[in-house]
Amino acid sequence: MAYDAANLSEKSALDAFWLEEAKRLTWMEAPTVASDVSFERDDFRIKWFEDGVLNASVQCLDRHLAERGDKTAFIFEGNDPSACERISYRLAHEEVCRMANVLKSRGVGKGDRVVLYMPMVPEAAYAMLACARIGAVHSVVFGGFSPDALASRIEDCGATAIITADEGRRGAKAIPLKANVDLALERLAQPPKLVLTIEVTGAQVPLTPGRDILWSEERDEVAPTCDPEPMAAEDPLFILYTSGSTGKPKGVVHTTGGYMVYASFTHEKVFALQTDDVFWCTADVGWITGHSYIVYGPMANGATQVLFEGVPSWPDAGRMWEVVAKHRVSILYTAPTAIRAAMREGDEFVTEHDRSSLRLLGSVGEPINPEAWRWYHDVVGEGRCPIVDTWWQTETGGILISPSAKSSDNKPGAATTPLPGVLPALVDNEGKPLDGAVDGNLVLTTSWPGQARGVWGDEQRFFDTYFSTYPGTYFTGDGARRDEDGDYWITGRVDDVLNVSGHRMGTAEIESALVAHASVAEAAVVGYPHDIKGQGVHCYVTLKQGIEASDALATELRGHVRNEIGPVATPDRVQLSPGLPKTRSGKIMRRILRKIAEGQPDQLGDTSTLSEPLVVESLLKGAEKFA
Ligand code: ATP
Ligand code: MG
Repeated sequence: MAYDAANLSEKSALDAFWLEEAKRLTWMEAPTVASDVSFERDDFRIKWFEDGVLNASVQCLDRHLAERGDKTAFIFEGNDPSACERISYRLAHEEVCRMANVLKSRGVGKGDRVVLYMPMVPEAAYAMLACARIGAVHSVVFGGFSPDALASRIEDCGATAIITADEGRRGAKAIPLKANVDLALERLAQPPKLVLTIEVTGAQVPLTPGRDILWSEERDEVAPTCDPEPMAAEDPLFILYTSGSTGKPKGVVHTTGGYMVYASFTHEKVFALQTDDVFWCTADVGWITGHSYIVYGPMANGATQVLFEGVPSWPDAGRMWEVVAKHRVSILYTAPTAIRAAMREGDEFVTEHDRSSLRLLGSVGEPINPEAWRWYHDVVGEGRCPIVDTWWQTETGGILISPSAKSSDNKPGAATTPLPGVLPALVDNEGKPLDGAVDGNLVLTTSWPGQARGVWGDEQRFFDTYFSTYPGTYFTGDGARRDEDGDYWITGRVDDVLNVSGHRMGTAEIESALVAHASVAEAAVVGYPHDIKGQGVHCYVTLKQGIEASDALATELRGHVRNEIGPVATPDRVQLSPGLPKTRSGKIMRRILRKIAEGQPDQLGDTSTLSEPLVVESLLKGAEKFA
């Protein structure tokens, strides 16, 4: 058992467990009930701590003031390595109250939706908490999205106000955030009536009178305190659009009480948090990871965190490790895409910086290939630090399956054990529960407090997407394998499973075999219709720095996969390509690769979340020889 957990399979025991955990928060009115949940179509509902009253910003700020008001909440590491600032909980509280008062003075109130389009600066966190303080529902849109993608999200959630910055800084580039907001609003029939702009770079930006206000001009005009709005546990806290790996992004809704309990609980348990830890989650606040493990979880727990404005590749590929050394980071939480990118650059960028402060490493977002896991463990962590490979989703609010930070025998690539109070199961394609060591579709049989409550404006889509496939359960869309020890291995999205000559295979396994080859930096595998085998195996491969693409290397890679996994997995096609299509959060978009392999370039679907559209052009060219 990786976590200390009583037998939590009975509803009464689960409810008692979570009601006890709810005490970790400071409630205005403590809840007396835990869950009221049914996943059945006829009386579908998900409610937690229903009679509780609280405010999320109080958890993250006010309750720390008396005993640790001067503790550092954020060590802000600017894009420019010389820009660094420490922000105490007391200062954060004041800034949040001021921003809340500015919003209030302009008529923003409880239930209103506010879109945030921000760089990674402390004001991004302040803006989220300022909304929470007055009961407004925030929806953070990642600062890398285009005006079109921004406009569609503003429209979908019906936002009445926007908080943005003049510009963002990412390495040598300036991102024209305010100008993008202006373009987005031009496209809307009913644009929001208020745009609050934070001056980050000081660039001149056009202001529309009556609509646009500047933080520097408003901040000193309002009081530094603001009474928190009492919110019912089930009042919405935020809407967040999913990454868009598989289709049109969904506006996932999270509510206040259950989400806060779960974010705080998981942050403490998974990372075995200690008071003097320096926690660094490299995600952007535009993703759920930034919501739960930069803002709500760590701040509720009074943690000290690094908040990083820049990119890992600037001024050079050693930036991440330089930041770890400079701020004595003890827990690093990042994504496989960042780990693979760092691996590709070579070990020296890592080893030239002191990593002795690290005690725990985390991974999230995609399955981590064992090769990348070992490099993270051996090179970054000097073989000293356990790795928590955390599996979860925007829809789960927080981590559901993760190895324990305390166990030293982690398995490379295994998400391992459900957290206490979390009950996963594997089912076959008919929904029949599967026992023992087996492969299957990953479902959750009961609710947990951090579970999403809906898709904004589309209750039917929420039910249909998650609760109709295997009735009575929440279906994650992911596949998993359970081993002899009962540990879970996420095999990828079930849509990505291949069926080659009747053999079912996860794409992750073939990708991991490819990444284990000395020349390979990254790989993505998809199926395509094959006359004889049903499905053929199409591999897209990017090579390490300095390695030349050649037909001989492609042939060698086919042989390598055959040797590693077996003849059924032998790639039919190996396409060496300079890059892979990724979402803005760095995940490989296999659905686009599938369409390219299937020879249907006109059916790529929603590409609005693609980070570098040009990559697709070069892949289409490269695939021509297979047509
Ligand atoms: P969309 O739902 O719009 O297609 P998305 O699923 O990529 O986008 P997220 O909620 O950000 O949006 O990602 C959750 C998914 O990421 C999981 O369902 C899983 O496929 C993958 N994932 C996250 N963490 C892990 C992990 N540790 N191991 C394996 N897969 C992971
Ligand atoms: Mg998803």
